[in-house]
Amino acid sequence: MSQNLTATVALEEALGKLIRDTPSLPLTVHGLIRDNPLFISFSPGLESCFRMKRLFEFSAIFKVAAILWALLFLVLIGGTQAVYPALLLDNRFPLWQGTVWLIGGVILAANLTAYLPSSHRFIYGYVVAPVSSLILFLLLASGLAYPDDTSNIHASYNVIMTMILVCYSMRLRWQVSSGILLGSGLAALVAALAAGWQTPWLQAGHAYLLIGIVLCVIAFFVERRERLGFLQEVLVAIKTEELAQVNDHLSAMASKDGLSGLANRRAFDEFLAREWERGRREEQPLSILFMDVDFFKRYNDTYGHAAGDECLKQVARAMRQALLRPGDIVARYGGEEFVVLLPNTDVQGAMEVGDRLLAAVDALAIPHHTSDAAFHVTISIGLACMVPTERSGANLLLEEADRALYEAKSRGRHRMACLQPMVSPTYNVDDIILMDIVKDHLPGKP
Ligand code: GH3
Ligand code: MG
Ligand code: MG
Repeated sequence: MSQNLTATVALEEALGKLIRDTPSLPLTVHGLIRDNPLFISFSPGLESCFRMKRLFEFSAIFKVAAILWALLFLVLIGGTQAVYPALLLDNRFPLWQGTVWLIGGVILAANLTAYLPSSHRFIYGYVVAPVSSLILFLLLASGLAYPDDTSNIHASYNVIMTMILVCYSMRLRWQVSSGILLGSGLAALVAALAAGWQTPWLQAGHAYLLIGIVLCVIAFFVERRERLGFLQEVLVAIKTEELAQVNDHLSAMASKDGLSGLANRRAFDEFLAREWERGRREEQPLSILFMDVDFFKRYNDTYGHAAGDECLKQVARAMRQALLRPGDIVARYGGEEFVVLLPNTDVQGAMEVGDRLLAAVDALAIPHHTSDAAFHVTISIGLACMVPTERSGANLLLEEADRALYEAKSRGRHRMACLQPMVSPTYNVDDIILMDIVKDHLPGKP
């Protein structure tokens, strides 16, 4: 079962890759389905997926089929023994007996190798056709080699075995099946010719050729139907792939801010809830930096809304680059407000990141002559840090950061503030007092 599942996944992956790598595939597949040609031939990539699918199908039925062949073989041998014991025991029929031993050996080998999945590709690709051909030929030869009184039994054996082998070899390409069957039929006629066109042998030759032709036609149409079915599967896979791409695009759009390319508020809220839970389980501090561009309304009024947008993009990029740990998250919270979430980070660590963010925006040196804080665009930061608990919620952390931001603004902007009484076990009372002091950044305008 799990082997089948692996095979299905492997085929899906190969098909998915083919679809992604071949933009013209939908057109080709639609064309083939619409035109419905008699001979359906595939491009090399599609053909290899089709063969892969057939190999998996072959593998899936191999075990059951090998057991059924063994049972059928035993029934036929038993029947022969009952009807004509001399065939198996008398040394007048060495060719027939050799053929029976060979078929028995092949069926035994098939039953053993059915449990070796790694051998299936080889068996399917190289063994099935020549062995089928050899067995058919030997059946034919032994059928023709002995006196008439056994030929009926031979004929029924041969027809049944031929049918089985054809059902088996029809899993190969129809040309191979046809080659084997027509070859056997022609060999029968050649044998009849060699025997001087004696009536029974000629009849046997005709019968073989007729069976061969009928089964070739069946093999051809079975394969044709399988190819059409496969095209429908490919079509479904194409649609699924398209849907997955649209879904990816939509979910990226739903969690991304269009202007800055950062995570949007919705995505941030999800991150926050997740990290809050994690922090609670692991009893680790979670820090938040709430940021707001200073005097941004004036920036818009002075430089225009388009310049304002460009400024926000640059600030967003600088913030993203200022974060060093892969788990840190920066998002655009709305308007000219940004927020950074720092999992497993205490106040000291968050302050370092805040300093880096202030400096990163300063380093952009975007001129802002109507700002009271500096000659360039600056930000203010509110910092909050908590070890999440059952009682407190993530909103509390946001509110604390927002209050701290307000404090930073009211104390002149272009700085970072942290107000809350710290619940982090790693900080003592002195630290808390220190946190209450607004941390000034670089000097602004005199
Ligand atoms: P403060 O220093 O107190 O934060 O002053 P401020 O002017 O930055 O604050 P306020 O909230 O009064 O103004 C925010 C401005 O940000 C107003 C709005 O036009 C502008 N803004 C919000 N979103 C965008 C945006 O996407 N693009 C542009 N260009 N401007 C935006
Ligand atoms: Mg604002
Ligand atoms: Mg602002």
